[in-house]
Amino acid sequence: MTLTPLEELAKSLVNCERCKLAKLGRSQVVFGVGNPHASIMFVGEAPGSNEDLKGEPFVGAAGKLLNDLLASAGLSRDQIYIANVIKCRPPNNRDPEPDEVETCKPFLMQQIQLIKPKLVCTLGNWATQTLLERKVGITKVKAQAFYMKDFVLFPLLHPAAALHQGNLLPTLKEDFKKLKEFLDKHTEPAEPTSAASTPTAPVLTIESPQPAQMDLFG
Ligand code: URA
Repeated sequence: MTLTPLEELAKSLVNCERCKLAKLGRSQVVFGVGNPHASIMFVGEAPGSNEDLKGEPFVGAAGKLLNDLLASAGLSRDQIYIANVIKCRPPNNRDPEPDEVETCKPFLMQQIQLIKPKLVCTLGNWATQTLLERKVGITKVKAQAFYMKDFVLFPLLHPAAALHQGNLLPTLKEDFKKLKEFLDKHTEPAEPTSAASTPTAPVLTIESPQPAQMDLFG
């Protein structure tokens, strides 16, 4: 059976030993899951223990919250694609280290090139800073659209942050409302589909990229 380029990429990483995380207790590489034709992609930081065991991003407590937030924006997991910046679990869920991000980032970029999402929602500081290529705090840039070369970036707080700090939950919910507003503004009405068809991602109509809002970075 011929593999798609995305499947080829996943296969090429199964035994990845390019960085030290390979020897620091990971059970498996967590490549990413979801609709390979998604127009919306979510990017988290790194797998935690549940993700490491299951081999899928966002399957633990943060994943449950993410599912509820997605539903509030009219999205389901089978319409979107989800991956992390780092594909292997850092020991004791520590932050990714710069060499690990540098090693793994090209594979995230290849995923983005192959899936070609129009909108990439980054969850938390790590994913946001990695894709914006700027050290800017998530609270300064969250819930706004940044027009990048090939996609629009829409940073959001990480769901795990709201689990640790309950007072962030209302903000996170509010930010997903802003995401829904953005989607409503940029989504074509759904075509009637046959009962047998597979779930399709919303068709986003995001027009010619505008320059990234550099003034925000001061
Ligand atoms: N947090 C992340 O950033 N990614 C996951 O897959 C799970 C929790």
